[in-house]
Amino acid sequence: MTDEKKITCIVCPIGCKILVKIDGKHFELVDGNKCKRGIDYAISEALDPRRMLTSSVLVKNGEWPLVSVKSSKPVPKNKIVSVLNEIKKASVNAPVKSGQVVLNNVADTKIDIVATKSIKK
Ligand code: SF4
Repeated sequence: MTDEKKITCIVCPIGCKILVKIDGKHFELVDGNKCKRGIDYAISEALDPRRMLTSSVLVKNGEWPLVSVKSSKPVPKNKIVSVLNEIKKASVNAPVKSGQVVLNNVADTKIDIVATKSIKK
């Protein structure tokens, strides 16, 4: 069965609406991209959509109770809930350094969750 999907390209501010046809793992670009960069974006968005995640993790014995975190790479969309659940259960002891890995290989994604701020004791 072939699905038609309209994908908004977010590579640049123009935001082209790219029409694609997807049949299982077969991809066909139909219309809408104003440049070649939109083709790569549409392929990855249609066949393997991913998102960068940002959230926060509990800090024990720190000057602040939470530290902001982000994923080291974009997370596959079908793993986002599992990753967020692991982040929710996690905690880290102060001090925390910006860039420190807080969760390694979160939800078996081979992606780390890293602190984006430093928190003192
Ligand atoms: S297809 Fe090209 S011009 Fe259109 S939004 Fe994407 S990057 Fe920008």
